[in-house]
Amino acid sequence: MKDPFIFEKSILENGLTVVSKQIPGKKRVDVGFVIHAGAYQDPVGKSGLAHFVEHLAPHNSGLSISQILKNFDLAGGFAELGETRFFDTSYQFCCPLENFEDSLDFFGKFLMEALFDKKAVLNEKPIIINEFGEKYACDRDYKKHMIQLQELYRDTILAKIKGVVGSKKDIRNITHHDLQEFYNTYYTPQNMSVVVLSSFKKEDLLKKISSSPLGKKKSGKRIVLPEPADFENILPSDYTERRRNRVSSGMIQVNHLLPKKFPRGTVQIFEKLVSDLLFNKIREEKRIAYQANLDIIDHVSFYESIIYIPSFELKSKNIIWRIIMETIEQVADNEEFFDEVKKITINKFNLYEHSAEGILSSAMEMLSFNHITFSKKELRDVLKKTTFQDMIEISACYKNGRSFCILETP
Ligand SMILES: [Zn+2]
Repeated sequence: MKDPFIFEKSILENGLTVVSKQIPGKKRVDVGFVIHAGAYQDPVGKSGLAHFVEHLAPHNSGLSISQILKNFDLAGGFAELGETRFFDTSYQFCCPLENFEDSLDFFGKFLMEALFDKKAVLNEKPIIINEFGEKYACDRDYKKHMIQLQELYRDTILAKIKGVVGSKKDIRNITHHDLQEFYNTYYTPQNMSVVVLSSFKKEDLLKKISSSPLGKKKSGKRIVLPEPADFENILPSDYTERRRNRVSSGMIQVNHLLPKKFPRGTVQIFEKLVSDLLFNKIREEKRIAYQANLDIIDHVSFYESIIYIPSFELKSKNIIWRIIMETIEQVADNEEFFDEVKKITINKFNLYEHSAEGILSSAMEMLSFNHITFSKKELRDVLKKTTFQDMIEISACYKNGRSFCILETP
């Protein structure tokens, strides 16, 4: 297959970005909408506003949510009515070719013409409060989580974030005016990208989108993604939270902030390198835990590294901590292993067969974090150019950095 991530990019007259790929013979249409605003755009004292809009906007398509979902199901496709993250809100659908115009009409209506009224807001509040309850068993859990986030994100752009769902107090205070204002500011064609995978020719596709509600003119502008954090100004700290719970084994989670100067592909190689080293030391050599893992999350302005060891023998508590720190330091002694991990990563990347859904979600993710997409070749080049020196530099960022550790014991 040719490069799966080569798209045709068009901007409609009203400013809407359309990222499309024509796949001849494709029977269904896969569509993803990225609204370039999320919890990061929540005003102070109105946490959860972006998420609230995501919940309520689809009520403006003229049909009930369950009816929309059923219609898509019945046609053999599906609809996903929203996910809010820090920097974007996304919606998706898949339908047969012949239903495309109707589906666009649906989504177009609620993405461009929603009106929020008092009654709908009141009806939705209990649902959102329940979602809060699903995440946090009690208010104290939420408060603890906020202390953790604030400790970790202090002086960064994420310091103001109170979670995607928001605080209970803020959710209760949100009015239909707040929702409308947020919607009018960010749900504009200029601040939206649509990804379409279909057998339609580009010209036909653009015509169909332009004549749907998505072609409507609205004033607005594209938000600007935050700049990479200046790590000179981020004071180091290491904070440990000890929790006592009714568990029979220990749990440790260590979060670190990392600067955004390394490309994502390079950071992914580091992620695998350290995960494998940790796993070998903690499980294969010492047999003190069954799992050890490093995850690195992209926060646009910086990365967050999360080392997670879910279950270990309590008597090994201090050894575990030492092994984590040693493993990161010893990255510098593992050049051969780096060569191997890099080769594995590139080979897996080359061999991976993307489904249409996979291409759609990758494109949406790239648009969310970068506002542009990269070709598979560009992504592969990042992996190829990654050097062992990069690994040493990333591991050095763990020293004197900002970290937060949660240690759970019985
Ligand atoms: Zn929700």
